[in-house]
Amino acid sequence: MTKERLAIYGGNKIIDRPFTRYNPIGKEELQAASQVLESGVLSKFLGCWHEDFYGGPKVREFERIAADYFGVKHAVTVNSWTSGLIAAVGAIGIEPGDEVIVPSFTFVPTASAVVRAGGKPVFVDIRPDTLNLDPELVEKAITSNTKAIVPVHYAGVGCEMSAFNSLAQKNGLRIIEDAAQGVHAYCDGNALGSMGDLGTYSFHQTKNFSCGEGGALCINDPFLVDRAEILREKGTNRRQFLSGQVDKYSWVDIGSSLLPSELTSAFLYAQLQAADEITAKRKEIFNRYLDAFQSLVEDNLIQLPVIPENCDSNYHLFHVLVRNSDTRDRVLENLQECGIHAVFHYVPLHLSKAGQKYQTAGNRLPVTEDVSGRLIRLPIYPDMTTDQQTLVVNEFTRLVTGD
Ligand SMILES: *Cc1c(COP(=O)(O)O)cnc(C)c1O
Repeated sequence: MTKERLAIYGGNKIIDRPFTRYNPIGKEELQAASQVLESGVLSKFLGCWHEDFYGGPKVREFERIAADYFGVKHAVTVNSWTSGLIAAVGAIGIEPGDEVIVPSFTFVPTASAVVRAGGKPVFVDIRPDTLNLDPELVEKAITSNTKAIVPVHYAGVGCEMSAFNSLAQKNGLRIIEDAAQGVHAYCDGNALGSMGDLGTYSFHQTKNFSCGEGGALCINDPFLVDRAEILREKGTNRRQFLSGQVDKYSWVDIGSSLLPSELTSAFLYAQLQAADEITAKRKEIFNRYLDAFQSLVEDNLIQLPVIPENCDSNYHLFHVLVRNSDTRDRVLENLQECGIHAVFHYVPLHLSKAGQKYQTAGNRLPVTEDVSGRLIRLPIYPDMTTDQQTLVVNEFTRLVTGD
C-alpha cells in the first residue's frame, strides 16, 4: 500500500473495531469522483468506468474495456450484485415452476433473486474443504424442472467450474456464477465470473474492491447481452436507441432500474487501478494467519481455509472452523470484549424463515449445518498493521486453547 493511499485513508475512521473496512482511498478515486461532479453529469445512459468516456455514451467501446479487464466477453455494469443476479435470472428466462440449484451456505440474495422471478431455489450442500457447492450432490438434485445452477465462489476461491459446466451441457442448464466475493480471483488462469454463461460481481463496501454499492454482470453468451441490457434499462430498448438501431426507445419487456451512477462508477474504476496492490496486502495478512495458527491445527483445535492448487484467491476473507458451536460462541463473545470484531456467517438459507418454504421435506445439508455452527471470520483488511494482527492471533489462540 503506498503511503499516499494510506495517508488519505488515515483521516477516514469508520469504526473503532474494524472487521472489514473501506479499502484505502487514494487520490485517484477522489479525482475521478470530483471530475464527475465538475462535469455535472451524475447519471448517464450507461455507467462508464473509463474517464475517456465521460464525454459521451461510447457504449460498445467502454464495455469492451471493462470486459478485457475481467476476461469475459461482455461486462454490463449494475448498481449491486443483487441487481446483476436479477438481470441474469431475467436474461435466462426463469419462470414460475423453474428450479435453480443454489448452496444454502451463502448470502440471502443468491436465493432471493431466484424467488423474485418466481423460481424455486433448490438448496444443495457444500464440500467440507473449500465450502463451495458440491458438484456430485448437484448432479443428484437435477430434475426435469432444473433450469440453472448458481455456484458461489466462497471467499474468492473458485468452484469446480468444469464439473458444473459439463453438468450444464449434459442437462441443458445455464450456469450463473456468484462471484460476488471473487473479483480479481482466478482458477486455472480464468477469472472467476468468466467461466459460466453469466457471472456477477459485487462492489459493496464489504468486498475487496468497492464503490459503496455496485456490481457487474459478466456475460459469456452473446445472446444474453441484449436481454440483460433491456432488463437493466427499466424494460426499454434505450441501448438500441443510443447505438442508432431504433429511432425511439420504448417499453419492450420487463425490467428494473439497475444502472450505477456516474459518481460511483468513476470511483470504482479508479479503485480497480489499485487491485494488485490491495490483493497483495490481503495475501500477506492471510498467509500470516495461516503460519500463526499451524500449531492450533496440529492440536486439532481448528481447521484452516483450503485453497486448491489451481486457484488464485483474492483473499476476500479469512475463516477458521473451531471444534463446536459452544466454542464458537464463547470465542466470538470474548473477542468482542477484547475490542476485536470477529463475526460468523451464514445462517443456512434452508433453515431461515423465508428459505424453509422452498426446502423439500427431509432434505438434509449436514456439511452446511455443521460448518455454519463452527465458523469464525477474523478481521482482514489491506491496511491492517502487524501489531493489530498479532493482537488478534494472540487473543484467538488464548481463547481456543483455553477449552
Ligand atoms: C456480498 C454478496 C452478495 C450481494 O452483493 P450486493 O452487491 O450487496 O448485492 C451476494 N452473494 C454473495 C456470496 C456475497 O458475498
